[in-house]
Amino acid sequence: MKIHEADARAIFAKYGLPVPPSRLVMNAADARKAAEEIGCPVVVKAQVLVGGRGKAGGVKLASTPDEAAEKAKAILGMNIKGITVGKVLVARAVDIANEYYVGMVVDRRSRKPLMMVSPAGGIDIEEVARTSPEKILKVVIDTAFGIMPFQLRQMTAFLSGDREIAKKLGGILASLYRVFMGVDSSLAEINPLVVTPAREVWAIDAKINIDDSSLYRQKDASSLRDESAEERGEVEAREAGLSFVKLDGSIGCIVNGAGLAMATMDMIKHFGGEPANFLDIGGSSSPDKVLAAMKIILRDRHVKTILINIFGGITRCDDVALGLIEAKKQLGLDIPLVVRLTGTNEERAREILKGTALIPAATMEEGVKRAIEAARS
Ligand code: GDP
Ligand code: MN
Repeated sequence: MKIHEADARAIFAKYGLPVPPSRLVMNAADARKAAEEIGCPVVVKAQVLVGGRGKAGGVKLASTPDEAAEKAKAILGMNIKGITVGKVLVARAVDIANEYYVGMVVDRRSRKPLMMVSPAGGIDIEEVARTSPEKILKVVIDTAFGIMPFQLRQMTAFLSGDREIAKKLGGILASLYRVFMGVDSSLAEINPLVVTPAREVWAIDAKINIDDSSLYRQKDASSLRDESAEERGEVEAREAGLSFVKLDGSIGCIVNGAGLAMATMDMIKHFGGEPANFLDIGGSSSPDKVLAAMKIILRDRHVKTILINIFGGITRCDDVALGLIEAKKQLGLDIPLVVRLTGTNEERAREILKGTALIPAATMEEGVKRAIEAARS
């Protein structure tokens, strides 16, 4: 789950990271007031859950409260990568002598937290990774020991030759690690972390993604979800108890089990098709879940056909068949549905689907091939 910069800043501050004072506002008048209270210069920042706001014109400096109001007016309502800006953060601006990148992710290979630092901060870190990977230092952290002093020294020396600044940076890296672990992040990033000409260090941007699997114990964080920034289908799917990810292809997929869903997508690709989504309806699927899945998939205009691939274990094929019939009735389906149902109650399912326009498939491979044909014609 992504959270807004304003919320990530609050978490940073709670963990002792140096974050300039700021206020979240929704109109120009409040932006002026915020600038007066905070003291100018300020920076006015679009609160949208996408990166590269600076480049898109969503981050502007202002040297007076009037100018802050003007900049807020310009940014509010702006469209950044498909999202309309509804709130801006007015933050105390700092002078920048150096910009660093500092971030943490979960490293799949070592299955441990990984800290990445770079003296080439401020800009797109993916770009740095591509063009000059030697400017990024990666350090794997063993959670049994936490971040070790020698690791901190390694990273801070990589960032700055200045002992005094390196020492300040060390404290910040240690705090970022505590944030990462403390709020169960999948990503925590400061880009840029800046050093001012007066040799102060400030985190002037804040990004935290929280692992969805830990939201049950991150109670405070759950309220930070911004559904307006999420794919509508993904929000509905979550509410219906489905696991859904939208993709760009033409073949909608309804599958039970994440592994089978992945295998189905792989096979579609293998035979030259493009999946329109990942969708796992989970175990013990009721007809309602199938109906909800259909609704979500059909909203995508690119979907030309739907492949239903069910391996009935706990999921009963007859339940799924009933859901399909119901969906066809309620939604007035006019695109081909390819159905492969196997396992628990498959005979009953076949009985239910007999005489309907659904395209049956005996195996997964046949189902995939038929779906690709149907999507092409
Ligand atoms: P992002 O583009 O979405 O990552 O937004 P950032 O918060 O990182 O801001 C983008 C850029 O705006 C930064 O890299 C800085 O160059 C600039 N910027 C942001 N805040 C300040 C500030 O307080 N002072 C100065 N001088 N520049 C700032
Ligand atoms: Mn940034």
